[in-house]
Amino acid sequence: MKIIGLTGGIGSGKSMITQYLIDQGIAVIDADQLSRDIVKPSTPGLKKIAESFGQEYLLDDGELDRAKMGELVFKDKEKLSLLNSLLHPILRAEIKREIECFRSKGHTLVILDAAILIESKMQDLVDEIWLVYADQETQIERIMKRDGFTRAQVIARIGSQMPIEEKKKHADIIIDNNQSPEKTIEQVKKIVSAAESN
Ligand code: ADP
Repeated sequence: MKIIGLTGGIGSGKSMITQYLIDQGIAVIDADQLSRDIVKPSTPGLKKIAESFGQEYLLDDGELDRAKMGELVFKDKEKLSLLNSLLHPILRAEIKREIECFRSKGHTLVILDAAILIESKMQDLVDEIWLVYADQETQIERIMKRDGFTRAQVIARIGSQMPIEEKKKHADIIIDNNQSPEKTIEQVKKIVSAAESN
């Protein structure tokens, strides 16, 4: 079984490609969803957060106060490292569990959809990295349209991520999504069949 890490900056078109892969019946692990699941009420992840950061980071209904936690880790890098050190091992274990689940079902290809694959040092979990790439102006225009953000808001979000040129250094395959969705899907079809055949 081959495991592919699919990554890309905000607005690069990763969700569009992931949706196509799901529609084709390919096994996709959603790392972003898993990272939310592992801090749901009554999980070991949320218990760790409460122990390390205090009960004040939980809402009355037992959910994580994402806004408050986000605010803290955004301005304090040490707290961000602490949070990551609590949650990354749990996230990795969950990803491994899903990989094994797909393996036992006989899948030959699994896609790990993870925007922060490289930042979270999850490269060792995958055999190959595919990077979805759109140039910055295209990214900006698509996100402004998708999310209704101003240009400055989009630039701030892009700026908070690892620069795409840095990500390119880690990629085995770059999916160019500067043209039409059809052109992009053509590339994806080719690399999927190549990945399935070896
Ligand atoms: P990401 O998941 O990487 O943030 P999305 O897949 O949501 O990005 O794409 C960002 C926006 O751009 C979406 O509204 C999507 O429909 C649109 N989009 C993606 N790829 C293309 C393309 N090749 N041409 C035109 N619009 C696109």
